Formats: sequence, structure tokens, C-alpha cells
Amino acid sequence: MNSDPFAVARLDMVDRQIRRRGISEPKVLEAMERVERHRFVPEDHRQLAYEDSALPIGSGQSISQPYIVAAMTEALELASGCRVLEVGTGSGYQTAVLAEFAAEVFTIERLPELSAAAQTVLEALDYDNIEFRVGDGSRGWPEEAPFDGIMVTAAAARVPEQLLEQLAEGSCLVIPVGGPPDQDLLQIRRSGNDFERKFITRCRFVPLIEDEAS
Ligand code: SAH
Repeated sequence: MNSDPFAVARLDMVDRQIRRRGISEPKVLEAMERVERHRFVPEDHRQLAYEDSALPIGSGQSISQPYIVAAMTEALELASGCRVLEVGTGSGYQTAVLAEFAAEVFTIERLPELSAAAQTVLEALDYDNIEFRVGDGSRGWPEEAPFDGIMVTAAAARVPEQLLEQLAEGSCLVIPVGGPPDQDLLQIRRSGNDFERKFITRCRFVPLIEDEAS
């Protein structure tokens, strides 16, 4: 019945890299146990899919380290039935983790080839609660706002104002800010027109590339 050759490696990854480093939210741990990371990794790196690192996915981009995916997901503090925005679809791995317990995930990627590849994998895995868009995600997705959580998986020089505007009351934006090469991963919670920042960890992401104003 077990057709997944990586099932043991994945449980081991969650235990060693995630649970033991302090991620405790059961929904996050379960999602990380379920989503097959090797499906989002190029064929020639598949044996490394459950290692403790980011990996290249082509077009100069990378799939995030498993621990960072878990830490960012936990920091969103999502309730079930929520609607989430992700900026930086990349491989689609983080998108899948979010789609495990969000009602709807809206995900934006600026490189069309990565968005298309992620869409193919996620459809093959039967996710039917993900909407894809190609473009500059630093402006968010105003037609679908407000969101119960917004996650940016690329490094921002500054926090994009439009993402803050698209947060529902009490919900969080999780975003790496600063660098290169390293950033502060921040959780920014909306309370009316106040935005409370909390430092989560240091991290290293590819840059968020913002289009010129149009
Ligand atoms: N969560 C992804 C991480 C991908 S790396 C994963 O685990 O696979 C970050 C991605 O953000 C890259 O694919 C990059 O092309 C994309 N990106 C950079 N700037 C962007 C922007 N302004 N809008 C949308 N996507 C952007």
C-alpha cells in the first residue's frame, strides 16, 4: 500500500528538523508530514529532497528549507477555513503546505515558467483550493482581500504597504525583511491601523523583485 519511497525520510525530517527545533502546532506538523517535498524538487535533486536545506528549482530560484516553511506557516497562526495569500509561488511546496489546512490559497509568482510548473504539480496532487496568478505580488491581490494571513517567500528591502492594507483585522503578514544576503523573518500583526512586529528568526531568501510603478 505504501507507494512513497520517501515516507520514512519525510517523517524523520519532520521529527529532527522541525519538531525538535520547537515547531509544535499540530496542524503544521501534520501538513509537513503529508506533503511530498520530493515532488517539488527537480529530478536530479530528488535524493536531497528531505535534507535540511534549500535546493535550486531553476530560473535562479530555490525551494525553501523545510524548517523555514514550517516556521513561516506556524507564524501565520491560521485558523481552519481561512483564506491566505502567498507571494512567491516558486516550486509550489509552501503553497501545498498552506493548502493542507486553508480553505483557499491565492498564490502569485512573477516568473511564468515557475508558476506553470507549480500548477502542474499541485494539480497532479489534486489540490482544488489554490488560485494562481503571474505578476508582481508585492501589490497583493486586492480583488480577493482581505486575507486571514499573507506570506511572502522572497526577501523584501521594505514591507510593501499594499500587503499590510490587505490583511484582515488581527491577522498576520510573515515576511523576510532586509539583506542581502540574510534577512529578519518578521511576523507583523494587524490591530486596526497598528502593525505589531515580532522577530522570528534569521533567514536567507532570494530577493523580492518589485516592478516599476505602472
Ligand atoms: N515558497 C517557495 C519559495 C520560492 S523562492 C518554495 O518553497 O518553493 C521565491 C520566489 O519568489 C521565486 O520563485 C521568485 O521568482 C518569486 N518572486 C520574487 N519576487 C516576486 C514578486 N514581486 N512577486 C511574485 N513572486 C516573486
